[in-house]
Amino acid sequence: MKDEIARLSAQGIRPGLAAVLVGENPASQIYVKSKIAACEELGMARWLHAPAASVSTDYMLQLVKDLNDDDNVDGILVQLPLPPQVDSKRVLEAVDPAKDVDGFHPVSMGRLVSNRPGLVACTPAGCMELLRRNGIAIEGANAVVLGRSDIVGKPMALLLMHANATVTICHSKTRDLPEVVRRADIVVAAMGKAGFVQAEWIRPGAAVIDVGTNKVTDAGEAEKLLKHFPQRLEKFRAKGNALVGDVHPDALFVAGALSPVPGGVGPMTITMLMSNTVKAARLRRAKTSVVARQ
Ligand code: NAP
Repeated sequence: MKDEIARLSAQGIRPGLAAVLVGENPASQIYVKSKIAACEELGMARWLHAPAASVSTDYMLQLVKDLNDDDNVDGILVQLPLPPQVDSKRVLEAVDPAKDVDGFHPVSMGRLVSNRPGLVACTPAGCMELLRRNGIAIEGANAVVLGRSDIVGKPMALLLMHANATVTICHSKTRDLPEVVRRADIVVAAMGKAGFVQAEWIRPGAAVIDVGTNKVTDAGEAEKLLKHFPQRLEKFRAKGNALVGDVHPDALFVAGALSPVPGGVGPMTITMLMSNTVKAARLRRAKTSVVARQ
């Protein structure tokens, strides 16, 4: 992205991300901090708005409007979850689709459904990048996506389908999940259940993208999950917790490729947020010669 940012800079454009972090949710604070740090590393402009947890929907709508109207802001990131009194859908729908770097706006979703260029949700876009850069064949592959959320499962399935995979979407009502997973050349697990996908379910050689980020604090559970990973178990004993994906770590011994947790999809999500912000700056502000690259 650094070359692209330099090209934009030559036109007097400095891509900028405005992050909105409501309240003091510790996980959200960590995520937003990493996103701001990534902006700094790339020399991008960044702003942090941190209203109190008691904020109203009207306040949030006004804040989003101000950011929409600010020409220096290319991307608007509203960190979820918002407090229960705030109408999250209304707030997300108020974001100018041209600045929707999270890809959550219905316009962005609609573009993705119809395979038109646009801003794509960062986590699934990052998973596609992981597959492509690791030379995993997607065309014609049987891909199984575990989870159907608006932010991960659904856009993931659409991206895989547009890349010509044959896609199966699984959810909590899916029958005989192990059998479905066994047919997959590519598995994307985004359920939010620590180590749920067992190594025996994975077809030998399959590519597995583990989106889950689950904090395990129970010693018995950690012993079971990390039995074959003594160093990680040592760390758990020292810290009292470990970050584990939705795929059992033993899948490493069966899969052809497996994205690590932590250190896989998480950092890619932040990277794609930066990439979307640079893209939004280019599409909205750059002169035609640069736009033509899109
Ligand atoms: P979510 O909104 O809670 O959705 C979970 C999905 O998993 C639902 O569609 C649910 O099915 C399905 N599911 C739950 N239990 C299941 C079961 N036993 N069998 C089959 N499907 C089951 O979660 P999300 O926001 O998509 O996130 C999923 C995971 O990814 C979480 O661990 C989250 O922390 C992680 N995540 C990581 C990143 C990152 O940057 N690394 C970014 C986003 C999310 P139903 O629809 O039937 O309920």
